[in-house]
Amino acid sequence: MEVLYKSTRSDSAPVKASEAILKGLADDGGLFVPDQIPKLEIPFAKLAGMTYQETAYEVMKLFFTDFTEEELKNCINKAYDSKFDTEKIAPLAEVDGAYYLELYHGATIAFKDMALSILPYLLTTSARKNKVKNEIVILTATSGDTGKAALAGFADVEGTKIIVFYPKNGVSPIQEKQMVTQKGANTHVVGIHGNFDDAQTGVKKLFSDKELAKEMDAKGFQFSSANSINIGRLVPQVVYYVYSYATLFAQGKISEGETINVVVPTGNFGNILAAFYAKNMGIPIGKLICASNDNKVLFDFFQTGTYDRNREFILTSSPSMDILISSNLERLIYRIAGENAGKNAELMKALSQEGKYEITEEMKAQLADFVGGYASEEECFAQIKNLYEKCGYVLDTHTAVASAAYTKYVKETGDQTRTVIASTASPYKFTRSVMKAIDPKYDSMGDFELVDELSRISNTDVPKAIEEIRDAKVLHDTICEKDEMESAVKKFLGI
Ligand SMILES: *Cc1c(COP(=O)(O)O)cnc(C)c1O
Repeated sequence: MEVLYKSTRSDSAPVKASEAILKGLADDGGLFVPDQIPKLEIPFAKLAGMTYQETAYEVMKLFFTDFTEEELKNCINKAYDSKFDTEKIAPLAEVDGAYYLELYHGATIAFKDMALSILPYLLTTSARKNKVKNEIVILTATSGDTGKAALAGFADVEGTKIIVFYPKNGVSPIQEKQMVTQKGANTHVVGIHGNFDDAQTGVKKLFSDKELAKEMDAKGFQFSSANSINIGRLVPQVVYYVYSYATLFAQGKISEGETINVVVPTGNFGNILAAFYAKNMGIPIGKLICASNDNKVLFDFFQTGTYDRNREFILTSSPSMDILISSNLERLIYRIAGENAGKNAELMKALSQEGKYEITEEMKAQLADFVGGYASEEECFAQIKNLYEKCGYVLDTHTAVASAAYTKYVKETGDQTRTVIASTASPYKFTRSVMKAIDPKYDSMGDFELVDELSRISNTDVPKAIEEIRDAKVLHDTICEKDEMESAVKKFLGI
C-alpha cells in the first residue's frame, strides 16, 4: 500500500516519500508525517533470523513506498557496512537486568550515525527520482554530534556538498577535533564567533533567503537539510527497535509477543518517536519512558499536559539533550489532536509566540503509553559510578540519564517488564565527564590520557573514531563572524 506524507500544519496535498526527504520541511513550516503507519506483518520467528540490513529493508520498504527494491537495498548496503565496528550494527548488552541497545558502533560513535549513514543515499536517490539536476548542498548548524555524523555520512558522496557551522567555543575538544579533521573534498567546516543559537539562526536565514536560492540555482546548487526533522532520519531509526525485539526473541530472553518497555534519553524527541512508530507497526512495546536531563521540559509536559519552554537553559554534561524545543514532538501532538492540522498549527503558534501551550484532557489521555522521567547531574554521575563498580560496564552521560531514570521508574512502580535502554553514545565521546564520575582524581589527566585509562578500566578497545583523531591533521580552520555565514557559503561553492 502506498504511503504518502502530509504536513502537520495544513491540509495541502500529500507528497511521495522521496519528495518529503528532499524537502525536509513542508512549505507551511510543518513536519511531514506518514498518512498511516504501516503494519509489519512478518512472524517474529522469521524476523529473529534476519540481519540488520534485512530488517532495515523490511521496515523501510513499508514507509518509502516510491523507492524500488534495488534503490532501497542499495542505500541500505552502502550505509550499514564496515563503517560499523560490529556486524550486528546495533548489538544488545545485558547489564544489571536491563538490555542496553548500543547505537554507537558507527563512524562517529553516537546514535546519529544510525540515520545519518543512510540519509545521504536516500537523499541522492530521491534527487535522481525527482529529476533534480542541481548539486545538493547540505547546510547544518551543530552543537557537536550532528555535525560530525553528517560530515562522515556525506563525505565524498557524489552530487553533494556539506557545510557545517559550529560555535567556535561551544563544543567539546574531542567534538571539535573530530570535525576539523574531516576528510573529503566536498566537506567544509566553519567555526563561528557566537553560540549554537547564532549558528542555527544563521543557517535558517540562509535556507529561507529566496534571492540566494535563485543565485544558487543558476549555478547548479540547491540547499537541503540533514536535520532530525527530516523523515529520512526518522524512519531508519524505527529499524533498531524492531531489530532489538527480534534479537531478544532470538536469544530466548522473551517469549513470542511478550511486551517490553523502552527507555530513551531524549532531546529533540526523534529517537523515542521512532520507538512509538515501531510500537504502532505492531512491535509489542508497553511503556515508552522518555528520559530528560535537568532541562526537563518533556518530563513536565507528560506530568501536566503543559509544554513550557520559558525557563532557564541549563548546560549539562549530556549536551545533546540540552534542548528546550523538542521539534519532533510536533508529530505526536498532531496525532493526538486527531490529525487536525489546524489545531496543531495553533499550538505551535502559541509555542513560538508565548513559548508554551496546553493540550486538552482528551489529548492527554492518548499519551498513556508515555512515561516522563528525568535524572539530575548528580543522579547521572552516580549511575555511571554504580554500574561501573557493580558490572564493569561504562555508560556515556546521555545513556546514564536514561539508566538513572529507569532505576527511579522501577523503584516507583515495581514494573518488572523486560526493558531496552537506548544507549546513544560511546563513553569515549564524553571521556572526561564519565571518568570524573567514576573517580574525581581523573580530572587532572589530559584528554587522550583519559581515553587510554578508560580503555584500561573498562577492558574495551579505543574506538577507531578516537584513534583517528589522535594525530590527525587539522584540515578546516575557517572562522567567521555570525554575519559572514553567507559569504563563507558562497566562497566554498565558488559563486
Ligand atoms: C541527539 C542525541 C540524543 C537525543 O536524541 P533525540 O532524537 O534528539 O531525542 C541523545 N543522546 C545523544 C548522544 C545524542 O547525540
